[in-house]
Amino acid sequence: PTPSSSSASTGSGPNALDSALTSIRTSLALPTTSLNLLVQRFVTLMDQGLAEKGADMAMIPAFVTGVPDGTETGTYLALDLGGTNLRVCEVKLKGDGTFDITQEKYKVSDALKQGPVSDLMEYIAQSVDVFLTDYGSSSDQDVLNMGFTFSFPVEQTAIAKGTLIKWTKGFNCPDAPGKDVVQLLQTALDRKHIKVKVNALVNDTVGALLAHSYHSGGAFIGAIYGTGTNGAYVANVEEVKKLHFGEKGSGADANRPKKMLINTEWGGFDDDAQSRPSGTGLTITPWDNYVDRTSIRPRHHAFEKMISGMYLGEVARAIMVSLIDRLLLFSGWSSPAMDTQYGFDTALISAIQGDKTEASDAKSATRKALVGTMGIKEEHVSDLDVETVRTVCDLVALRAARLSAVPIAATIQHTKQAQEVGSEGKIKVGVDGSVVEYLPGFQDRMKAALVEMLGEKIGEKVVFGLAKDGSGVGAALCALQAVKQEREGHV
Ligand code: BGC
Ligand code: MG
Repeated sequence: PTPSSSSASTGSGPNALDSALTSIRTSLALPTTSLNLLVQRFVTLMDQGLAEKGADMAMIPAFVTGVPDGTETGTYLALDLGGTNLRVCEVKLKGDGTFDITQEKYKVSDALKQGPVSDLMEYIAQSVDVFLTDYGSSSDQDVLNMGFTFSFPVEQTAIAKGTLIKWTKGFNCPDAPGKDVVQLLQTALDRKHIKVKVNALVNDTVGALLAHSYHSGGAFIGAIYGTGTNGAYVANVEEVKKLHFGEKGSGADANRPKKMLINTEWGGFDDDAQSRPSGTGLTITPWDNYVDRTSIRPRHHAFEKMISGMYLGEVARAIMVSLIDRLLLFSGWSSPAMDTQYGFDTALISAIQGDKTEASDAKSATRKALVGTMGIKEEHVSDLDVETVRTVCDLVALRAARLSAVPIAATIQHTKQAQEVGSEGKIKVGVDGSVVEYLPGFQDRMKAALVEMLGEKIGEKVVFGLAKDGSGVGAALCALQAVKQEREGHV
C-alpha cells in the first residue's frame, strides 16, 4: 500500500488507515541493520554484566558447572514457580535421556503474588504436602532432595543459595527482595515437618538447558519464551570476571571449574533505552512506553515486555486502542474487555495468527476472538477491521520473534561457539514457553533472523529443540548435579 501524502491523525477512509498501518509497520520493523546493532549492544552488555554485580542484564552465575549427557538416574522432587501455575513434580530420570513425571498444578492467587512472602512460601509448602499425601513418593530416601525452579532474577551465591533481586511478571511480594528464597522455602517446609531438602535453586532457563542436554546429549543455550523471557548458556569460567576462586595455585583455585552456567536475565537487556537517544539500541515505541509505564515495574525488563506472553497481547491492544481512538478501527467503538489492561490475551494473537480464513468468514477465529472473547459488537467489525487486526497481531508477533533471535546470535558471537563446535557441529538450543510453543511461525521467524545476523553457515548450525517440562526435569537434574558437585567438592 502507498502511504497517503496527507496523513491525517484522525478520520476514516482507506488512506488514513493505510498511512496509520504504514507508520505502525515502520515503528515495529527490525531490518537486518537494526538487528546487528542490537547484537553489538547485547555483547557489550554481556561483558558488563559478567564483570560487575548489579548490572541491568545481571549475567548471574548459576553455580552449575556441567551439563548432563542423558545417562543420569534417580528420583527427585521439583518445584516450579514463576510461570502461570505453581507445579509440584516428582521426576524419575531413567538414564536413557527419558524420564517419568508425576505432577500437579496449583493456582497462585493475585493476593499471594503480591502479599507477604511468608504467605506465598506457606502456600507452596502446603502444596508440596498435599502432593506428597496424594501421590506418595517412589523414592526410598528418608529426606527427599528437591530442586526449586524459581524463575525470577536471583543473585546466586551457591547452587542452593540466592537472594531475590527483584520481582518480574506480575509478582510483587514487597518484603521478598534481598532475602534468600531457599531459606524462606526451607523454613516453611520445616515448620510443617515435611521431609524435603531444597538442595538446588534453579532458574527456568537453566532448567531448560539441563533438560535439553539430558534429552539430546548436550546443549549450549536454554531459553524461555513464555510468560517472561530469558536465557542461560554455558560460559567459560575465565570470561566470568566477577567470579573469584582465590589466588592462582592456592587451594581455592584448585576448585575452579572450567565451565559455568550463566543465567543472563536478558529480559533486562538495554533497560536504559528509554533514557538514551533513539537509534542507539532498543526502539521504544509509544505503545511500548504505554505498556511499560502501566506495568507493575516500569523501566525494568523493557525487552521482555516486547517479547513475552504476559505482554504481547497488551502491546497489540495498545495499538488497536490507538486505532479505535482515531476512528480507524471498529468505527471508533470499543468494549470493556478491549479497554481493560491485559484484556487482550496473547493466546488470541496465536489464534488470530493461525486463522487462514477469508476476512468475511463469520465463523473465523479472528471474529470469534473479537466478537466472542473481546465483546466488540458484531456490526462494528467490518472485513477491513478483521484484516487490520490480523496485520497488527502479525507485526507485533514478527517483532517479538526477531527480537528473540538477538540474544541467541549475541551469545554465539560472544562465546565464539561456532568455532568451538567446528564445521560439522551443531549449536543446540533448548526452548520452552507458551510463546515459542504456541505462536504460529515464531520459531521459523526467529531462525530466519538468526541467519540474517550470523550468515547462512553459522545460522544453519543452530538447532532449536523444545525442552518441554524443562522446569520440572531441569530442577530434578539440578538437584542431582548439586549432590554430585557436593561430593566432588566443586563450588
Ligand atoms: C525472569 C527470569 C525468567 C524469565 C522466564 C523473567 O521475568 O526475570 O528469571 O527466567 O522471566 O520465566
Ligand atoms: Mg515455566
